[in-house]
Amino acid sequence: IAVGVPRESVPGERRVALVPKVVGRLRSAGLNIVVEPGAGGGALMSDWLYEEAGATLGDPWACDVVVKVAAPTDEEIGRLKPGSVLIGFLGTDQAQALATADVHGLAMEAIPRISRAQSMDALSSQSSVAGYLAALLGAQHLTRFYPMLTTAAGTVPPAKTLVLGAGVAGLQALATARRLGAQTTGYDVRPEVAEQVRSVGAKWLDLGIEARGEGGYARALTDEERAEQLKRLNEAVIGYDVVITTAQVPGRRAPVLVTEDSVTAMRAGSVVVDLAGESGGNCELSVPGEVVVRHDVTIVAPLNLPASMPESASELYARNVQALLELLVTDGRLNLDFDDEIVASACVTRKES
Ligand code: NAD
Repeated sequence: IAVGVPRESVPGERRVALVPKVVGRLRSAGLNIVVEPGAGGGALMSDWLYEEAGATLGDPWACDVVVKVAAPTDEEIGRLKPGSVLIGFLGTDQAQALATADVHGLAMEAIPRISRAQSMDALSSQSSVAGYLAALLGAQHLTRFYPMLTTAAGTVPPAKTLVLGAGVAGLQALATARRLGAQTTGYDVRPEVAEQVRSVGAKWLDLGIEARGEGGYARALTDEERAEQLKRLNEAVIGYDVVITTAQVPGRRAPVLVTEDSVTAMRAGSVVVDLAGESGGNCELSVPGEVVVRHDVTIVAPLNLPASMPESASELYARNVQALLELLVTDGRLNLDFDDEIVASACVTRKES
């Protein structure tokens, strides 16, 4: 079986779906890896590193399996071989085009978050990268120090960081801000994460609103709960130097957690880092993809943040892809077992046979 690794075509997408370290493992599982020249360039992984690991350079689109990071463009779908398998963050827009092209699409974002599929959980691996970077962006844009400093010129108090939404990204943001010396506090509507928040050295902010949803996610709040949450958050947010927001509800617009009133009440020079920009933003004043200053508060709402740390993001993603490929290949043959929950959930285009 040949597995193709194309160069990502979306502007700014610096990640690559397989890295040289993983190529060797896949070779021993009987797979031939075909890498498009320059595919790892954005992540500073040169062609010769791939060749040294046992890959060949060539046309990835002619392969039985093509592995990508970003969703394919129409042009890319046109290059896929009928009957082939495409793996990546596929989204929902291209499902019909993939089906028409007679391609099996396996969406990394649709892999169920069950323990057997943990090693394939690309949502988690990329959220960890985003959470880490969110804490760094907070530190970078803050006009004050993160850690407490005792200097000859006096003592500097530590910055206070509040993370709203303590899922994978939020917990990583808390852990990172703490390592940089900030005083950290975490908040979520799923009360079960309180323990995890404390385990990364943060305080737990309890606003008395619980919203557990399906499959380990949060549910959307009712109008009444939302009004109550905003009222309590408006009061809570004021004392913080950095507010990092990561709240998402599957299939919906991200909830607004930081209003203009809250931003107005924050101290000048404070920072909001909004990781929910892709789904509309958690801060009312966020401009997705931009850094804006409103009421003397810097509001950062980055898009596709993991692509800005392409080496680690690609390494983790490649391990997720490797684990999925190992599930799909038995004795050197490709076997899409639709009775397997992982394959059935991930497949966005099941070919009728
Ligand atoms: P996510 O990206 O969907 O959301 C981020 C966080 O925002 C979540 O913790 C969510 O509870 C929180 N949130 C949503 N609405 C909010 C609101 N109005 N106010 C405050 N917070 C709000 O979540 P994620 O990080 O992808 O996953 C969440 C957690 O659930 C992770 O720890 C993940 O491992 C776990 N999970 C487990 C399973 C499973 O074991 N079956 C399945 C899915 C997710």
